[in-house]
Amino acid sequence: TVSVVLFTSDLRLHDNPTLHAALSGADEVVPLFVLDEAIASAGFAAPNRRAFLADCLTDLDAGLRERGGRLVVRTGDVVARAREVAAEAGADEVRTAGGVSRYAQRREERLRRGLESDGRRLRVHDATLTALPPGAVTPNGSDHFAVFTPYFRRWSRERPRDVLAAPRTVPVPATIGSDRVPARADTAGVSEGLAEGGEKAGRKRFAAWKRSGLAAYEDGHDDLAGDMTSRLSPHLHFGTLSPTELVVRARRAGGAGAEAFVRQLCWRDFHHQVLAARPDASAADYRTKHDSWRSEESAGAEIEAWKAGRTGYPVVDAAMRQLRHEGWMHNRGRLLTASFLTKTLYVDWRVGARHFLELLVDGDIANNQLNWQWMAGTGTDSRPNRVLNPVVQGRRFDPEGRYVRRWVPELSGLAGSAVHEPWRLPEAERAEYDYPDPLVELAEGRDRFLRAREKG
Ligand code: FAD
Repeated sequence: TVSVVLFTSDLRLHDNPTLHAALSGADEVVPLFVLDEAIASAGFAAPNRRAFLADCLTDLDAGLRERGGRLVVRTGDVVARAREVAAEAGADEVRTAGGVSRYAQRREERLRRGLESDGRRLRVHDATLTALPPGAVTPNGSDHFAVFTPYFRRWSRERPRDVLAAPRTVPVPATIGSDRVPARADTAGVSEGLAEGGEKAGRKRFAAWKRSGLAAYEDGHDDLAGDMTSRLSPHLHFGTLSPTELVVRARRAGGAGAEAFVRQLCWRDFHHQVLAARPDASAADYRTKHDSWRSEESAGAEIEAWKAGRTGYPVVDAAMRQLRHEGWMHNRGRLLTASFLTKTLYVDWRVGARHFLELLVDGDIANNQLNWQWMAGTGTDSRPNRVLNPVVQGRRFDPEGRYVRRWVPELSGLAGSAVHEPWRLPEAERAEYDYPDPLVELAEGRDRFLRAREKG
């Protein structure tokens, strides 16, 4: 018998329940990845993610070849291509990981119906993309948790499934044709400092960080200049690392750093279970707030300044420039730039979320849209009207100003935390720096937001 394994966001050989089940039940498997034209035409295949994806596919193909197999790549409509390949291979079934976005849910439904009409079966593996499958724990009377802390409590009590070893051999039928596996070099417009993709790179990064970063994570994770977080988010987004395996191995390492890291992995599961139950939350407010947000039309110049890292608030600008340069941004930067856009500038969170998705290598519908909603106060945050002050944030999380000087070289002549308030310099000295004045007074922005929220 033959089984087709349709890879999506699980581009790995280690701890892959979908691949594992296919290999246990069939004589041969067809490891298939479809370069999905619908994702590209929806604008979701941004250059940074396309480049990272190419690394992942190249590495997956190499890993399969080491095991006597290879990756089959096709291009077009994912359902049509999967059905075609299943027919060519004479497969009984297609297996795939269960996704949470509206798109993934529809893809699964279309695939199920299409395969059924071909006399084949779709099998979906839920414990692949998150440590705990969405819906595995629910509060009384609801299909998902809307508040993180009770979710975390329940989530922590569940025992993760067993971690699966990578297969030794992957027998693939010789007759199935494949398109060329894409290469990173095929993609233009990639951020200069983009990380390397692929399961090997991901495992190496985790091993190194577990040794040198995990123990200090609890104290260091908010230190902007220290850059002490794991940077595993793109690997989790593309599934080159298994969230279950990370939870199990971090817990085994133990300590306060590991606990804090596992809690962040739970945040990821949390947002996934919200989106699985409420796929509309990718675009619509999770909790309606009747905000009269400013839009691209009404706040165009300010939005452009925010995107370019020219708001006049150094820590905001540093983070926005890191995003452009690396296709990644520190979590503290994401929080304070999102607060600045939605609250200080009172711009619609969807404008910011879209810009992040254009650049983030880990750009993810569940994590991005729901974190934006969390910060905009339309989502699951229990303090929806909190406004972060970028000067206070800068002084607290970049006390020596090193992060700002790294990303805003115009200000590198300013020592220490003075770099967070260049407008305080004497006029003549201020003129020496080619750096804009603040786009808006912080108190003014804050009042505008709070007044609008009171009315809503
Ligand atoms: P670490 O601190 O090492 O954390 C480990 C892992 O836990 C991360 O890789 C991530 O998978 C998960 N995690 C950590 N924090 C969160 C969180 N708040 N929500 C969900 N999962 C979390 N994360 C994305 O993966 N994709 C996104 O598109 C994304 N967009 C965001 C947008 C905004 C406005 C904000 C405030 C946060 C966003 N995040 C997103 C969450 C978080 O900022 C990143 O996951 C984190 O910065 C990635 O760096 P790291 O891997 O070093 O994280």
